[in-house]
Amino acid sequence: MKRMLYGLLAFGFLLADSASAQLAAGSMDVQWNSGAADCKVNPPQPLQVHRYNENTYILRESLCTTYEAPFMYLLIGDAKALLIDTGDVTEAQKVPLASTVMSLLPSVGGSKMPLIVVHTHGHLDHRSGDAQFTSMPQATIVGTDLAHVTEYFGFSRWPDGIAQVDLGGRIVDVIPTPGHYASHVSYYDRATGLVFTGDFFLPGRLIIDDADADRASAARMTEFIRTRPVTYVLGGHIEMDRNDQTLEMGSTHHPNERALPLDKEALMKLPSVLASYNGFYGHSGMFVMYSQRRVLQCLAGAAVVLLIGIGFGIRWFVRRRRRQRVSPAKA
Ligand SMILES: [Zn+2]
Ligand SMILES: [Zn+2]
Repeated sequence: MKRMLYGLLAFGFLLADSASAQLAAGSMDVQWNSGAADCKVNPPQPLQVHRYNENTYILRESLCTTYEAPFMYLLIGDAKALLIDTGDVTEAQKVPLASTVMSLLPSVGGSKMPLIVVHTHGHLDHRSGDAQFTSMPQATIVGTDLAHVTEYFGFSRWPDGIAQVDLGGRIVDVIPTPGHYASHVSYYDRATGLVFTGDFFLPGRLIIDDADADRASAARMTEFIRTRPVTYVLGGHIEMDRNDQTLEMGSTHHPNERALPLDKEALMKLPSVLASYNGFYGHSGMFVMYSQRRVLQCLAGAAVVLLIGIGFGIRWFVRRRRRQRVSPAKA
């Protein structure tokens, strides 16, 4: 019995090994521009491009162009290319995203190959560059609202099920991951084993507005990757330093920035990280979690209480002054 068990285990490891061996290799050896404390002095290039391998590129808007400094990913297949997210900047004069992407695309039959522009989710820092692609005949832009996401990918029982995009010899799985955003999806590239998780999972703040949906997404994602080889997990931003401390919000200077990739092990732990989240605020390991909506509601409530307090204070002060004027003899 024991020997049979060891045999099965060895077979399992062999399968996992052979799956990893089939992945197209790539390089994460990149130094992202750290921005600047004063961006007016020597501003960096607005868009940095890292070639992971010959048909996979990682692009990032500079911290001086937008403190969000979002990442975008370009996957090129035999017949089509897929751009995941378009960043925080609309104007091509500020960030030449579309022309840069086009320059990376190979030609098929004398013209640039078709490009599908998709998103992890609809927050503006992930889709503002869409406008640069609208006039390009070879580009298809997929909307970010739930109706467009479910229709384009063919989800019939959202958020259940996994969809696929076939780029020609390169299949990308689409995994529903709502929680940060109602129509958030993550992507798994079978060719490289890269997982693109947007703002659902990143080395930064996990902003969770629907805790139940996010927990279900974590369970769905871990179930999906459990049996698949994962090289790197790549999110939408870096908001941590090398000691895994959260960087100041809105900072245009990240001199000690952490590396972008998280690993499969970290993603497999997400369900237990989320277990400590109460729907408002939580902290587990390197991750801070909170609901932006509820924090804003709280701040709005505190502002109302403060205004009411100030109103009562002014009323009390005016009445006191009036009383002093009516009976000066008592003073
Ligand atoms: Zn977001
Ligand atoms: Zn974002």
